[in-house]
Amino acid sequence: MTKTALIAGITGQDGYYLSELLLSKGYRVLGLVPPERQSSVVKLGALANQVEIYAVDLTDSEALKEVVEQRHPDEIYNLAAPSFVPDSWNDPLGTLDLVTGTATRLLATVREVGLETRFYQASSSEMFGQVDRSPQDENTPFRPKNPYAAAKLHAHWTMVHHRQRYGLFACSGILYNHESPRRSPSFVTRKVSMAAASIKLGLSEVLEMGNLDAKRDWGYASDHVEAMWRMLQADVPEEYVIGTGKLHTVRELVAAAFDCVGLDWQRYVVVNPKFLRADEHFQLVADPLKAKRQLGWEPQVSFEQLVEKMVLHDLECLQTNLQNC
Ligand code: GDP
Repeated sequence: MTKTALIAGITGQDGYYLSELLLSKGYRVLGLVPPERQSSVVKLGALANQVEIYAVDLTDSEALKEVVEQRHPDEIYNLAAPSFVPDSWNDPLGTLDLVTGTATRLLATVREVGLETRFYQASSSEMFGQVDRSPQDENTPFRPKNPYAAAKLHAHWTMVHHRQRYGLFACSGILYNHESPRRSPSFVTRKVSMAAASIKLGLSEVLEMGNLDAKRDWGYASDHVEAMWRMLQADVPEEYVIGTGKLHTVRELVAAAFDCVGLDWQRYVVVNPKFLRADEHFQLVADPLKAKRQLGWEPQVSFEQLVEKMVLHDLECLQTNLQNC
């Protein structure tokens, strides 16, 4: 029988890759998009015609309930969140409402409608925050350091409470940075891949960067959404840390990207203090052993392959179709 999945946050990077994965598995895919952001459906490209979009305000419990009652989704993926972490300092309450409020409303809906719907909550490695041990696993204490991380942690616990108290099949993936050609250029990976492509094509001459020593556990978004799906197919709902387990510096990222286009990065990259951050953590790296053992999940795309995918995409994009890059 055809399964139905409902995705909140379908027009983001992960929404795209998850839709692609679920459609390839024969799912019927439904997406929730706030009415004022309906135009963002174009971000789904060719997939837009294959998914069903509901223009629903994520703060409207009744509207959410109506969709769930009508369509009886087998799986709900809550990916709705502001994507750029530093922005949460400008709007902590709005962040809390979007992140925690949406999770709470969706979980309440599943409980009230009384379905067997399985629920995935997109948790974040940001919840670990000020870590005193590396790598992190499912038993590492949470010490969030910004409003986004605190909101994600609240949503995470709300999901756990619904599982414990009401017996819902609810899980969460604690995901480390995951990137792709669909990443917004406000993130360092895409900023660098676009700059390498643009400099190669003679469209720009210099790349201004922040901290080149900053390190991240960067994975490929397509690999990470596979983990989300696997969690909802498991026998028991649990939490899983999802990352590559490997740290790379921003310097390595820049070198790899410029290498892809045959240029020496040191001739083009300058540090501009405007991009330095006051509050950096360097030790966020996943121990994804539980996901490997219990879900059989492992990243398929290496750091170098990821950077290459992004740079090649941006080269092609800048050469053919500037508007859609
Ligand atoms: P996030 O901070 O993990 O959500 O992801 P980002 O991609 O925004 O940043 C990753 C790391 O790259 C951080 O440690 C930044 O300080 C560092 N970084 C260095 N230069 C830049 C830059 O020019 N832009 C951004 N966004 N990050 C930079």
